[in-house]
Amino acid sequence: MHATEIIAKKRDGLELSTEEIDFFVNSYTAGDIPDYQASAWLMAVFIQGMNARETRDLTMAMAHSGEVLDLSDVLPVSIDKHSSGGVGDKTSLIVLPLVAACGVPVAKMSGRGLGFSGGTLDKLESIKGFRVELTQEEFKRNAKQYGIVLAGQSGNLAPADGKFYALRDVTATVPSLPLIASSIMSKKIAAGADGIVLDVKVGLGAFMTHINEAEQLAHIMVDIGQSVGRRVVALLSDMNQPLGNAVGNALEVAEAVDCLRRSGPPDLQEHCLVVAAHMLRLARNDHRPEALGEYVAEAADRLSSGAGLEKFRVLVKAQGGDVSMIDDTSKLPQASIKEIMAAPHDGYVLQINAQQVGVASVDLGAGRERKGDAVDHAVGLLVHIKVGDTVTRGEPFFTIYANDRERLARAKERLENTVVLSDNPTAPLPAFYNTISSENFDDALTSSR
Ligand code: URA
Repeated sequence: MHATEIIAKKRDGLELSTEEIDFFVNSYTAGDIPDYQASAWLMAVFIQGMNARETRDLTMAMAHSGEVLDLSDVLPVSIDKHSSGGVGDKTSLIVLPLVAACGVPVAKMSGRGLGFSGGTLDKLESIKGFRVELTQEEFKRNAKQYGIVLAGQSGNLAPADGKFYALRDVTATVPSLPLIASSIMSKKIAAGADGIVLDVKVGLGAFMTHINEAEQLAHIMVDIGQSVGRRVVALLSDMNQPLGNAVGNALEVAEAVDCLRRSGPPDLQEHCLVVAAHMLRLARNDHRPEALGEYVAEAADRLSSGAGLEKFRVLVKAQGGDVSMIDDTSKLPQASIKEIMAAPHDGYVLQINAQQVGVASVDLGAGRERKGDAVDHAVGLLVHIKVGDTVTRGEPFFTIYANDRERLARAKERLENTVVLSDNPTAPLPAFYNTISSENFDDALTSSR
């Protein structure tokens, strides 16, 4: 087989065989196909697309390009979650302890933030001493011993995706549905997931800004999972405004702890209970239509009883973190400058551009523009309003936490036009738009209300 023939076949809109896809992925991973040929192939896939069978083959070739984690000796069933990335999305910090507190052990590999969207590992590293780099033995041991572990992805899981993703980033081939779907699903399959809850964000602060596109992506990922025997549910959730109030690493950890103490923002709490309920439902393989509501109630019970918070403390302690920072979140890194931006006039909140809020947090130093950049854990902002709120002149929109006056000025300038007020009443945004499942689950309940 020759790389050139495979590139030409896809360029001409023809279907690639399983063998051709395996050959291309394996040879590229091994370094036998150079970046320039892989770039041409990615662009051919970007333009011509892939059918369901090709997308599944690409996913499995990437999943098997390195080690595939087998968690069957430590977990009865491995249920993972994936968020397609957003602003203020600290869901994993809340959902995983809740699910673990319901008796379903969780072992998750997470990523770092890139661009305007934050990453779970950066948030956890706001806690002094917290280790996100675990050996595979430690990862499995903690899963078994504590029922909860949250670490960075081991370098040898789906290495093909790492290489392809870096190339896509610089060849304008990221926004391709088969390439995104195979990238996400290959990592989850390589990480040993039996069931996956996909939180597909839609809106101004998400990768997918249009609901139709997000639904298409969700369907492709659910179909891939189903065709290889994984239980998958995709939730389409709103990312037009930040989730919760806090954006920035330590601020988000503090808000997650508030949420686990039952005093977090209502939108965040609702979101987390629904995601947790879907994870429980997949773990128990429960097809009953009423099951989701029951699992929302079960997760809410672990919130009220403090069992979720206790699991979070267990997680932090097990990975070397300073638990006193969880017991007293004022011990988390604090910024030296605090400034409030207020409503310029009375009105109704029509829009809070989540992407601009995310970029402002990067301006402050909370995120990274390039892989490997350092982040400032203390900085970020609190967003005090939601779409649909009524505001009066002088009411706080944002509290900004900064460590540098020049960065603060940049963030303030960006935030200046981030909120759009209307003279007429506006409607709140829904938490979820749709649910797409791989099994004949009832999709009726996507709200805990
Ligand atoms: N997230 C991923 O992991 N891969 C993509 O291609 C896009 C988002």
